[in-house]
Amino acid sequence: MKKILLLTLFGAFLTTNIYANWFASEPKKSSKAIDNSKIYTLKLAETWPSNFPIFGDATKNFKKLAEAMSNGRLKIRIDSKNKHKSALGIFDFVKSGRYDLGHSGSYYWKGKDINTLFFTSMPFGMTSKEQYAWFNYGGGQQLMDKVYAKHGMKSVIGGNTGNQMGGWFQKEINTVADLHGLKMRIPGFAGEIMAEVGVKPVNIPAGELYTALDRGTIDALEWVGPSLDLRMGFHKVAPYYYTGWHEPGSELQFLINLKKYHSLPADLQNILLAAMKLSAYQMSNQSEFESAKNWASMKKAYPNIKVKTFPEPVFAALRAANQKLLKKLAASNPLAKEIIKSQANYLQKARAWTAISDQSYLNSQSK
Ligand code: CA
Repeated sequence: MKKILLLTLFGAFLTTNIYANWFASEPKKSSKAIDNSKIYTLKLAETWPSNFPIFGDATKNFKKLAEAMSNGRLKIRIDSKNKHKSALGIFDFVKSGRYDLGHSGSYYWKGKDINTLFFTSMPFGMTSKEQYAWFNYGGGQQLMDKVYAKHGMKSVIGGNTGNQMGGWFQKEINTVADLHGLKMRIPGFAGEIMAEVGVKPVNIPAGELYTALDRGTIDALEWVGPSLDLRMGFHKVAPYYYTGWHEPGSELQFLINLKKYHSLPADLQNILLAAMKLSAYQMSNQSEFESAKNWASMKKAYPNIKVKTFPEPVFAALRAANQKLLKKLAASNPLAKEIIKSQANYLQKARAWTAISDQSYLNSQSK
């Protein structure tokens, strides 16, 4: 039954005229007869440890979909961090061909190519819904292709975490001055923005974060949101849970070695992309589901968690720092400038619509 549903879904997916956008180009048609006896085994390396919830489910779903849709002609072997030992080695693994596929986050590679930064989520940027529209219809996938082609790879949407929370804080933040000298685990571009307003971003391995927050080695940290924060237990040791601004819709990525991709029969290439995009969609739904469920149980067990939003002067300082750093990035290379411009132009249009649709609707529900 499940298989029929899956194939029907896939059929519906392929017969709609939206696929040109979803695939960034028209799916290729096979010119040769399909050789059903030939099995293609593809190795996938993921950043996550074995059995990591949600993110790890995305690769398991992808494997199931790709193998079912190809009627077993594709075999996917997943190696987690426990096996390959290098959470942040995925870019090099796939680029070099040691692995055919990867599952990770594009913003981890900013040290290798700064232009990879833009394809996860940008502070004060698009929500996941807006960003998917940009990826699939607003030129985002084409820009991502341009960045990754230089490295012999293709990056495909890999599932969204939804709006991430601003993090767990030991003290309330009332003014910009309250951020001065604050030791916070906040990686990436958001960490650079925080540094501009006086925060001291610190880098601590995931396994040591709870103790660091509990003992005061750090004053604050951001992780994801209730979907993955619950299991970390931060709500037991920090009273303030700030709402998000820095990762409004973090998209993971699948990476494909282009040489390997082009060596596959056309129908398997299409199946690979379709399976990635369907599993990304599943993960995005799962993130929303788990966040709502976990937030309900967190609130019930710890009714004193104080949900806070930074006051406007703090946001104003963060927005100014963001603009300053984006300007610097745009000046650093033409492709960065092109991506920043594409995102800003699209966001302006998308947000005007969000304001009179979702935002107005949600406002009508509040007391
Ligand atoms: Ca985060």
